[in-house]
Amino acid sequence: MKELKGSISLSLIRNLPYCERMVWFKLNSDIEEPPTPSMILSSERHRDLKRIAESLMLPQPMQFNKKLCHPQIPVCGSPDIISGEERKIIVEYKHFSRERGDFQDFRAQLLTYGWLVQEVEGRVWKLVLMVGREVVWEQEYSYELHISARHLVERLLKILDSPTPPSASYGGKCSYCFFKSVCSSSNQPAEIL
Ligand code: SF4
Repeated sequence: MKELKGSISLSLIRNLPYCERMVWFKLNSDIEEPPTPSMILSSERHRDLKRIAESLMLPQPMQFNKKLCHPQIPVCGSPDIISGEERKIIVEYKHFSRERGDFQDFRAQLLTYGWLVQEVEGRVWKLVLMVGREVVWEQEYSYELHISARHLVERLLKILDSPTPPSASYGGKCSYCFFKSVCSSSNQPAEIL
């Protein structure tokens, strides 16, 4: 699989609903974020994914964490599970549960994985989001979703290409943002003071 120069990870999509400015810092600053608890658990993850695939009775063949890169657009992604041959089911799994919400961030990430699989590997039938032990969102994939996902990818690429960070408003999200200090001191500050 050929990776286009400068390809970026679609996992960043899940930050878009929170703050585009944060995404810009992730893409353009040299600051290394510490690994998240989920990253630290990565060795246990593969076992979890096999267990989940069994519990959901997913069809064969199954591919776990397969890295896919778009042949024309510089984005890559590794959906947790791609299941099935003709009509594929894409599963995204988040180990740590959290208070119920609409999971907009995880759904956005999963949506773009669906888009990537459909573009690279063929027809997608369904998207399944699992948080903790629960399936929190399940959706048949459609042309409309494909277009929405494409728009998210375009938004991500636009942020990547921007020479300056987009503006953003201060909110509760900023209190735990890793880029808080660089955000407030950058040349085009967000309205966070
Ligand atoms: S501090 Fe707030 S505005 Fe700045 S990047 Fe983080 S979340 Fe966005």
